[in-house]
Amino acid sequence: MITIKGADEFAKMRTAGVVVARIHQDLRAAAKPGVSLLDLDEMAARIIADAGCTPSFLNYHGFPAYTCLSLNETIVHGIPDERVLEEGDLLSVDAGAIYEGWHADAAVTFGIGEISDEARQLNEVTEKAMWAGIEATVPGARLGDIGAAIEALAHPHGYGVVREYTGHGIGRQMHEEPQVPNYGRVHRGMRMKAGMAVCLEPMFNIGGDETRVLSDNWSVVTADGSLSAHWEHTVAITPDGPVVLTLPE
Ligand code: MG
Repeated sequence: MITIKGADEFAKMRTAGVVVARIHQDLRAAAKPGVSLLDLDEMAARIIADAGCTPSFLNYHGFPAYTCLSLNETIVHGIPDERVLEEGDLLSVDAGAIYEGWHADAAVTFGIGEISDEARQLNEVTEKAMWAGIEATVPGARLGDIGAAIEALAHPHGYGVVREYTGHGIGRQMHEEPQVPNYGRVHRGMRMKAGMAVCLEPMFNIGGDETRVLSDNWSVVTADGSLSAHWEHTVAITPDGPVVLTLPE
């Protein structure tokens, strides 16, 4: 169901969004060679609890952690475990928090120490595509306008645009209608309205767009083993345009 929100609801989502931004900042600062994914997840758990929020991800359809930590060829939904970060890894940190019943959800990808030029370019282009999508998320825009703006950034580089996982509406639930694909045709699809909130989350791969789920039933990896990057913000649609709710204070 789509929740149409007023200023109070957006303010609560913004409170949750600041907590998500703090998780990104603190985990990024801590993510060094030798640190385990579980160490990072425990930091996120503390940040959420200290802020008086509840986690969006823990126990979501049985998900066992506070964050999704997706390394290298893992696109999304990586489960934090004992694996230890290494120089040159590309890590996506996806986190969610709930404040007074209202959700925020966002992801960043960054390198551990020095990363390859091709990894850096993939990551920069994926972030730019997210921002292109955010700029297109204005009242009256259609879903296809947003998807087209996102995928246009991938094409010059030949990146695979993941199609099986998408952005989504967000509010009282982490995942609400509509699905927000990272591809599309302009002037097609549902019209955006003020009061809606959506998560835009491009996932680009250096290789093809095909995905596969590992035997843990969560981790989504590129079928060809190529590197993947993932960026996400929660965006409020206001009469004046998009407002990002998951940036730092
Ligand atoms: Mg999301």
